[in-house]
Amino acid sequence: MSAPNMTAGLFDRVALIGIGLIGSSLARVLRRDSPQTRIVACARRPETLAAVRRLDLADETTDDPAVAVAGANLVVIATPLSAYAEIGRRIAPALRDGAIVTDVGSVKGAAIAALQPELPDRVHFVPGHPVAGTEHSGPEAGFAELFDKRWCILTPLPHTAPEAVAKVTALWERAGMRVATMAADHHDKVLAVTSHLPHLIAYTIVGTATELGEDLQSEVVAFSAGGFRDFTRIAASDPVMWRDIFLANREAVLELLQRFSEDLTALQRAIRRGEGDTLHKWFTHTRAIRRSIIEADQA
Ligand code: NAP
Repeated sequence: MSAPNMTAGLFDRVALIGIGLIGSSLARVLRRDSPQTRIVACARRPETLAAVRRLDLADETTDDPAVAVAGANLVVIATPLSAYAEIGRRIAPALRDGAIVTDVGSVKGAAIAALQPELPDRVHFVPGHPVAGTEHSGPEAGFAELFDKRWCILTPLPHTAPEAVAKVTALWERAGMRVATMAADHHDKVLAVTSHLPHLIAYTIVGTATELGEDLQSEVVAFSAGGFRDFTRIAASDPVMWRDIFLANREAVLELLQRFSEDLTALQRAIRRGEGDTLHKWFTHTRAIRRSIIEADQA
């Protein structure tokens, strides 16, 4: 848990472009720890902005990103990746000199490619990814504790000012996160393994199950605790966000998928040939990985 007032004094005016699960969770952290910070929230739909006002997540709301960023010393872009380039174009002329622009997008190479060309040199761009989430979307789904003890990965560019990186690091640390810095392409490879491939597998399994005959389908739901249920949670994740992630991280995902299908074929062969030792060895190895995640406090 972060101590009270820990985000105080970092930024006096914060613009959140996109205020769904991630943006609203950050708004809640700022409300909790830094009540003097003015928050401006931007979304497209009136019902989203109405929910933000009802939940008191922002001091001002607007559907115009340029209006939202005016005067802000921190701008956090928290929309699906496919909206980034257009948002970059719209906010660029309105950004305050010396403002810090960061984002929370799940693919960093694509986030940088979309935003960097649009942003003027007079602002600091610090790409970021708080690796924390749920399968829920929208401002109602957020909660301040979402970031507790999770990792946030920053992927600054070679010319990004260290002071700007330090401030964004402080923001996420005060929200309860551990912060790591790495190159964007490395981030995208790591996340392809830890997040993108597991989601693709979940989407596949749940899709396959829904193609089964009707009688089998109802049994799948009734007996889902056998493992299927955990996949359905992941496969309930936001379709727009995940469409964008797979298109944005195409290369890393396809390369990994190739290796995955080779391993799947090896297991398939072991099952067909009745090679219990191969299966046992494989499953013992994977069990050890689960233990190391628990030991790292990331379970
Ligand atoms: P979300 O709950 O679906 O919220 C998205 C927000 O973006 C909504 O407020 C939406 O407003 C707004 N938005 C969409 N298009 C927009 C546009 N063109 N202009 C202005 N606002 C727009 O999404 P989320 O889960 O918070 O994800 C946001 C970002 O965080 C994504 O890039 C994702 O990759 C990243 N991320 C997600 C997770 C996760 O587990 N969910 C974890 C880490 C990082 P409307 O309601 O008006 O459409």
